[in-house]
Amino acid sequence: MATLTNPAEIARETLKQMMARRMAPSPDNYRAIYNEIAGVAENPADSFVEHELKSLLHLLPKENPAQQGLARQIGRAIEGRDWEGCRKSLADFIREHSGESGAAWGELIADFLQQWETKQSGLTQAKKRESLDHVLSASGRNDEILFGRLQSLVRSWSMNAEDADEIEVAASGEPAAAPGDSSAPADVSTPPGRSGELLRALRETFVFTLETLLAALLDDEPEAAAQARSLAAAARGASTQKSVQALLADIKRFAFQLEFVAEDRAETRNGLLRLLQLMIENIGELVIDDRWLNGQIEIVRDIVARPMNPRAISDAEHRLKEVVLKHSQLKHSLVEARDAMKQLLTGFVDHLADFADSTSDYHDKMERCVEKIGQADDIAQIEGVLEEVMRETRIVQLNAQRSRDDLRATKQRVAEAERRIGELQAELDRTSQLVRHDQLTGAFNRRGLDEIYEKEVARARRRQRPLCIALLDIDNFKKLNDSLGHDVGDAALIHLVAVIRETLRPQDTLARYGGEEFIITLPETPLEDAVGALVRVQRELTKRYFLNNNEKLLITFSAGVTEVRADDTQASAVKRADEATYTAKTSGKNRVVAV
Ligand code: GH3
Ligand code: MG
Ligand code: MG
Repeated sequence: MATLTNPAEIARETLKQMMARRMAPSPDNYRAIYNEIAGVAENPADSFVEHELKSLLHLLPKENPAQQGLARQIGRAIEGRDWEGCRKSLADFIREHSGESGAAWGELIADFLQQWETKQSGLTQAKKRESLDHVLSASGRNDEILFGRLQSLVRSWSMNAEDADEIEVAASGEPAAAPGDSSAPADVSTPPGRSGELLRALRETFVFTLETLLAALLDDEPEAAAQARSLAAAARGASTQKSVQALLADIKRFAFQLEFVAEDRAETRNGLLRLLQLMIENIGELVIDDRWLNGQIEIVRDIVARPMNPRAISDAEHRLKEVVLKHSQLKHSLVEARDAMKQLLTGFVDHLADFADSTSDYHDKMERCVEKIGQADDIAQIEGVLEEVMRETRIVQLNAQRSRDDLRATKQRVAEAERRIGELQAELDRTSQLVRHDQLTGAFNRRGLDEIYEKEVARARRRQRPLCIALLDIDNFKKLNDSLGHDVGDAALIHLVAVIRETLRPQDTLARYGGEEFIITLPETPLEDAVGALVRVQRELTKRYFLNNNEKLLITFSAGVTEVRADDTQASAVKRADEATYTAKTSGKNRVVAV
């Protein structure tokens, strides 16, 4: 067909074509054919928007003159394809209709127009139109649903090309909306069409699960809870294929970590149960007043008062076991000793009384005999008195002999009790070799260190987390001992242990390695942080002086810190730390050296 240029001819030809094609005589159809004949490329997007906006305009309430005026303004803007004017009038209309939601609608429409005009690669106009059509038809007359759906549609358009593709992929399995389902409820069980709504709902549920549920469940694991929240934020903002893939990898890692959390929790629970059982079974035994015992019980109380973790519970359990063990041994020994002493004393008192009774009786009798002799008139009378003297003397002799025998027997019983106490003491010594804590300071002993080290190395290797050890040696300790005495030295060791325990984290463990040498195990700690922890202890010691008779004494130490390597044995790691300690000593003491 030759291109017509005269508007009157074009108009005539337009009407002819409309009749020939049996088209409804609507202004839209007229314009479309007119443009076609005039050779003006019609922007299908524009005509679609115009059409949809007109149907939107049709739905708007026109209950008062203000609304009617604004509706007319909107209509004129649509006719003139003045999108900016249309946006403004619509925003005014909405503001006039509802003070609160107006602004949101206005923004939404502005966004909508902006996204409609923006080209998104991978998202054709046809696809956009199809999505909008679905949103409009499936939302019925419910403003809220329409708002929500339109908002997600605009958001999905604002994503870049890859994202838009993914939305199409996510929606492509769904059947297209049936023509009659415009009154369908807006729940996810309704096939939501192609607007990416299912994806949005999934994303929101996932974000909610991470941010609200998981973070709440992990309230005693602040690091993991923070990670759940940051994953939720990432999930909310992930808009490109690349970022979604990175998010998936992070989620996998996080899930892996959560397995460990669950493992720790199960261990914590079981440990707690064992601990409680132990306490319930043995609490009646804990009555002896012993400094070490009281100290240990205090530590247990302290551990239980802190946030629970498997290490703390296991520590409390072992300490309590040792308390019970030592207590029961001591109690037996004390009961034996008390009984023996009682017997000894009772025996003495009895014999002394017997002896006193019989000797004073004897003396009385002797006095009476002397009197009788003085008054005797003949030999026969004296003989009778002498016989009495002999008899009484023999009785006293027999009593004395019996007393001596009894005392000898008592002495034997005491010796027997002493032997028994000795045996018990030996048994106590033997069993205390099973004890994992140093009796002076309450820190782990070497045996305890071996166990801790083995456990921590296994845990670190399994989780591929760094583990450090530090060996520290008190500076010039011999001088302190020599000048102030061994007891003051002992008290200084106890002070140092208390400061270390209160400065480090609960999962760091302290063991007495030798006289004034200690090893600290620092799980999940890179070398740099381990050095930092030791420096913190040094600083703390300068604030918390050791007091001896109100005299402030500064205790310092030199330390070597090393990270446990894959091929390390305990001995090789300790040797490395020891060499670093030596370097610290030779380079001036009171310092921490990392190796
Ligand atoms: P340096 O700064 O080089 O480490 O000097 P030092 O005096 O600390 O080192 P040295 O190894 O020569 O002396 C350690 C002293 O620690 C020897 C001993 O008297 C004392 N010691 C070891 N065990 C105990 C203990 O249980 N109680 C007390 N009071 N002193 C102890
Ligand atoms: Mg030393
Ligand atoms: Mg020393």
